[in-house]
Amino acid sequence: MNQTRRAFLRQLGAAAVLPTLGAWGRRPASRAERVGFAFIGLGNYATNWLAPAIERCGVAELRGVVTGTPAKAEAWKKRYGFPDRNVYDYETFDRIADNPDIQAVYVVLPNSMHAEYAIRAAQAGKHVMVEKPMAVSVAQARAMVEACREAGVKLAVGYRNQFEPNTLEVIRTCRSGELSQIKVIESSFGFRIGDPTQWRLRHAMAGGGALMDVGVYTIQGARYVSGEEPIAVTAQEIKTDPVKFAEVDETLLFQLEFPSGAVASLGTSYNAGSERLYVAAEAGRLEMSPCYGYDQHVGWVENWEGRRRTLEIPQEGYMSAPMDDFAACILENRDSRIRGEEGLQDMRIIEAIYAAARTGNRIELEQP
Ligand code: NDP
Repeated sequence: MNQTRRAFLRQLGAAAVLPTLGAWGRRPASRAERVGFAFIGLGNYATNWLAPAIERCGVAELRGVVTGTPAKAEAWKKRYGFPDRNVYDYETFDRIADNPDIQAVYVVLPNSMHAEYAIRAAQAGKHVMVEKPMAVSVAQARAMVEACREAGVKLAVGYRNQFEPNTLEVIRTCRSGELSQIKVIESSFGFRIGDPTQWRLRHAMAGGGALMDVGVYTIQGARYVSGEEPIAVTAQEIKTDPVKFAEVDETLLFQLEFPSGAVASLGTSYNAGSERLYVAAEAGRLEMSPCYGYDQHVGWVENWEGRRRTLEIPQEGYMSAPMDDFAACILENRDSRIRGEEGLQDMRIIEAIYAAARTGNRIELEQP
């Protein structure tokens, strides 16, 4: 690798934690140096969020799609200028092994399909990004990590907030000692889900309800602000509409205990809107709301000396960063901060929360 390229990639790694990709002011890598991605599943998130985000990438480039809907493929081919041979359906997908244009796939399918396509992609020799929740069970998540390890490919989970600049400032503040020891974390993420026929309400497709879909963000939040792994969970489920939520959880409240003594009081719902992350520490506190969804994240930090600062770093473009960072990880042969083990740990916590809600017991967790 020549010096210029090495320097570029080093800066890319640093740039991934900067406010916006546009702020890099760097020329994108040449086509030969870019990493070709194929999206698997052209639904709402792939079409309306990831596609515009990958267009802004400097290193990742969309070069193919996997879809069960041939009509969708035409528009994608035209827009991204890739040939027919880079379009696959779910049966022909494994032939991607022979396609040198594509080095990585991004699995954006319903949750229950993540493991199968991640493992098939690994066996085809492709690096794998997969959307949250990583899978619908710990066993699946572990199998994905193993398959990627065996195939010698990288695995990352699309935890975009780990690249969002206000979130990064919150993490930095918590790690810096400015607020001293964290005592309590409160966080919630929920929304009122619409269409009662959608796959998110079918257990076989979704693996669970609000917790799998958006509650996982609060688990991430508690883990990345504390920098610790929980040792025990308790949980309570509330169901007010047993018809709509016959197969999946509607509302869950849950508590994580951390080794330092910090506790997280978390909640998620498919029937109530909320989006908040609050940290109370010995020497101050902070809040961010919104803090997980697509809207500009805003918040404040206050320490007990009376200093208060607001958080509102422009976040435009941050959704490109996970893909560009993953591409750089592939080129530099390093692990992503959102590697598969991050998703596996969240799956362990999710399973413990469901068990705690079902049994009423406090469930202890081993340190990963
Ligand atoms: P959609 O229902 O909008 O899209 C899913 C796509 O998967 C479909 O359009 C279809 O694409 C394909 N598919 C293949 N088989 C099926 C099937 N049996 N039923 C339904 N779809 C099928 O879902 P989303 O895009 O909202 O979510 C996809 C994933 O992305 C989920 O895991 C979700 O949790 C995650 N997500 C993450 C977000 C984030 O902010 N990180 C936000 C939203 C979602 P095709 O027609 O091309 O085959």
